[in-house]
Amino acid sequence: MNSMSGHFQFDEAGKVLVPEEVEESIRTLIRWAGDDPSREGLQDTPARVARAWREYCRGYEDDPAVHLSRTFEEVGGYDEIVLLRDIPFQSHCEHHLAPITGSASVAYLPGERVVGISKLARVLHGYAERLQVQERLTAQVAQAIWDNLQPRGVAVVITARHGCMTGRGVRTPGVSMVTSRMLGCFLTDRDSRQEVLSLIRGA
Ligand SMILES: [Zn+2]
Repeated sequence: MNSMSGHFQFDEAGKVLVPEEVEESIRTLIRWAGDDPSREGLQDTPARVARAWREYCRGYEDDPAVHLSRTFEEVGGYDEIVLLRDIPFQSHCEHHLAPITGSASVAYLPGERVVGISKLARVLHGYAERLQVQERLTAQVAQAIWDNLQPRGVAVVITARHGCMTGRGVRTPGVSMVTSRMLGCFLTDRDSRQEVLSLIRGA
């Protein structure tokens, strides 16, 4: 477990204590944005922002492989695709720290082992709750399932909107980005790929 939480201190209410330098950096950012961090409405903002960022990035304290370590080998002869579709998630882009909001469909064709279905969502969130690019997030989720479950195939399709595209730069609200990663039979076998993609689309 790659836990950073040992470095944090907590108050009596269990809230993480925010170091002064972190609050000061957020006040600097508010000044840079053009506002006055000492005005009433912004006084508690630095501490709130600091705690919010601990939550946005709690994936750093999570080892997604752990969620895949408890598997079931007795699957009653089931040898078809397992799909968890449209799992909502939130992440932040590493280039602008802007929100990435989307959903992921995660599928695998089991080999010897299956995992509780909620674990696929946990793996997604473990990687999403970090600073990310969508392409890497997609690849990491697929690879974690591939490495830990040794399935015959893995398919991950992520559709997401990027705050850095909708709120700044080219300002294109409504545009979403789609990324996919196929491994094993979904990469090499055309029919398997067609089957998983039509399941993901809900066709
Ligand atoms: Zn960005």
